[in-house]
Amino acid sequence: MPLKILPKESVPLFVDNLLRDYEVIGPLRKDGFYVFGSVRSFSDMELDYPITIYPAKKFFLPPRESLLRFKTGEKVSVEPVVEEPQPKVLFGLHPCDLHSTWLLDAAFLQETPDASYEARRRHTVFVGLDCLKPCDEYAFCKDMGTLYVNGGYDLFLTDIGDAYAVDIGSKRGEEMLERYADTREPTPSELKRLEAAHKEKEENFSNRLKFDIHNLPAILWNSYDSPYWEELAQKCLGCGSCTLVCSTCYCFDVFDKVELNLQKGERIRVWDSCLLEEFAKVAGGLNFRPSRVERLRHRFFRKGKYLTERFGKVGCVGCGRCTRNCLVHINPIEVYNHIYEEQQKSAA
Ligand code: SF4
Ligand code: SF4
Repeated sequence: MPLKILPKESVPLFVDNLLRDYEVIGPLRKDGFYVFGSVRSFSDMELDYPITIYPAKKFFLPPRESLLRFKTGEKVSVEPVVEEPQPKVLFGLHPCDLHSTWLLDAAFLQETPDASYEARRRHTVFVGLDCLKPCDEYAFCKDMGTLYVNGGYDLFLTDIGDAYAVDIGSKRGEEMLERYADTREPTPSELKRLEAAHKEKEENFSNRLKFDIHNLPAILWNSYDSPYWEELAQKCLGCGSCTLVCSTCYCFDVFDKVELNLQKGERIRVWDSCLLEEFAKVAGGLNFRPSRVERLRHRFFRKGKYLTERFGKVGCVGCGRCTRNCLVHINPIEVYNHIYEEQQKSAA
């Protein structure tokens, strides 16, 4: 699809026009941090943001939602709860957050389609925003292969100074641009500036992983009995913050809430975390991952091995949110490099 130019002075009008027909979600500044939230006008948004505390997944997979309502008694009935969502534009998502949506889609649309997720996803338009420099020292998106995107968005903006170069990713994006934005064709000098921005981006990000990412599943598997996991678990507080802020964690718990009259109730889905002790507790009180070391190792294996083998794409997008929010600074890139170096040493 063709490339268009959106002058920066036209962006406020673009967003304010979108607000006529859509709820616009964008990066907002809050208490010195950034969060994705509903905007009332363009001036609420901070497009020059490094990263948000939470990813955008809550807009497709809310932390708590009703899946069905039921009635008991003589006339038993069960009704699925699928809301008709308001059309949304997610504005300003960085490449790592676009990649994480691909993984959520794989889980909730391909394998066992989930009606609520599907409805929200269908009503959401993605306007991505390129990262030209790392958000901070915790990001390792380049190592995870998520620094670049070639799909998964309707529009994708790259800052080229006084304008954005807009890559059109879908028919819906093209129509939206025609209807709501004031764009024009790029000039040769703007195309050169875009090329320079891409070059600068490549130079600004360095690789931190000491091995080829494709070898991660095997490296993890070889580390299964390493004493390093015990060492790491001694530090880990088992709080689950890392999974709560993770862009790609989607594990949930489901329980029934029955009214006091025992006549009706609802089935509720809530986010869960594999780091919490209760997560692996099953009927009879058996816990199949009773120790912290098993839970912590599982978290890393799920990201770097199990999801990769299941969906063909690494289950971590390198956003670094987990490290930023971990009180003891457990950092995936350091963990991966540590187990790799340990294996190199024992092979020498
Ligand atoms: S945030 Fe850190 S301390 Fe808390 S469970 Fe995750 S790794 Fe452990
Ligand atoms: S594991 Fe950490 S770096 Fe990877 S996607 Fe989750 S929060 Fe981001």
